[in-house]
Amino acid sequence: MHEVTAYLAPRRLDEALQAMADGDATVLCGGTDLAPQTESGTRRYRAKLLNIRRVAGLGGIAAEGDEVRIGAATTITEIRRDPGLARIAPVLVEAAEHFASEQIRNAASVGGNICNASPAGDMIPPLLVLGAWVELACWQDGAVQTRRVALERFFVGPGKTVKRPEELLKAVVFARPAADFVARFRKSGPRPALEISTVSVAIGARVAGGRLSEARVAMGSVAPTPLRARHVEAALEGKPLDAATIAAAVAATTDDVKPIDDVRASAWYRGHLARVFVEEVLHEVRGN
Ligand SMILES: Cc1cc2nc3c(=O)[nH]c(=O)nc-3n(C[C@H](O)[C@H](O)[C@H](O)COP(=O)(O)OP(=O)(O)OC[C@H]3O[C@@H](n4cnc5c(N)ncnc54)[C@H](O)[C@@H]3O)c2cc1C
Repeated sequence: MHEVTAYLAPRRLDEALQAMADGDATVLCGGTDLAPQTESGTRRYRAKLLNIRRVAGLGGIAAEGDEVRIGAATTITEIRRDPGLARIAPVLVEAAEHFASEQIRNAASVGGNICNASPAGDMIPPLLVLGAWVELACWQDGAVQTRRVALERFFVGPGKTVKRPEELLKAVVFARPAADFVARFRKSGPRPALEISTVSVAIGARVAGGRLSEARVAMGSVAPTPLRARHVEAALEGKPLDAATIAAAVAATTDDVKPIDDVRASAWYRGHLARVFVEEVLHEVRGN
């Protein structure tokens, strides 16, 4: 890595991707992660600093047909205020409500939240329960190439993803949830919070006749990456949402979380919070 030799703010996707093709560009969107990281010295800029804010087609929320598509540069404020999302996927609006402060939400993008790959990224657990995937684009063989990766396979470690340096995250996409799909998000800390989550939990499932199906449970800050809690999901799948099922789901939480001790919380406390949140969210879905 070296000093920045060029600052670029292209308006077209192909221009942005061509600038990234040698793998020596740092992407800048809202800068709310990048600026503190570079200022503290934990991260260094590559030769080119590429501002993607003006790139046409990277913003906006579109629910067309069976898919809901959120452009990578869409801000957390835009998600929070989108009437369509409030109807189709209110769990995303709920997570946006709990996100940082007004100023940060106005700058922070959903793509930046995903690409920063923090285990505490607040938009990630709700997107995981929606079964989202990301679209990654690059410039290859003289054209824009795009591939899709399931969000749950995107993260490989804290700050590490399967995205290659020459790839740009274009959008996050999910299938329009069924009419009986219910999802909730819970994060530690006050609301709205200038605080990184100690633990976050999102639970989503179809609820019909008091039974859960297609249950998805995702957690943040309980492992090196945001994760799908498969044991909790298995405890819920096909079950009536009663006290016994909730108790089984809470017990299964222990098998899914692998928290660490750090300056913000002990491993014990994180495990405890995850269990409490699973219980709270399931009671909320049950309506009591
Ligand atoms: C005071 C404060 C409070 C915060 N509170 C919260 C909070 O409550 N919850 C939370 O989850 N986060 C929080 N954050 C972290 C941060 O705001 C979010 O992660 C935000 O969504 C990052 O988006 P950004 O557009 O600012 O990303 P940037 O800082 O511009 O970029 C972040 C990373 O992603 C890369 N990148 C960005 N966009 C793309 C793209 N489209 N394709 C490829 N790579 C890309 C950048 O190169 C960089 O590595 C907080 C930060 C601050 C400073």
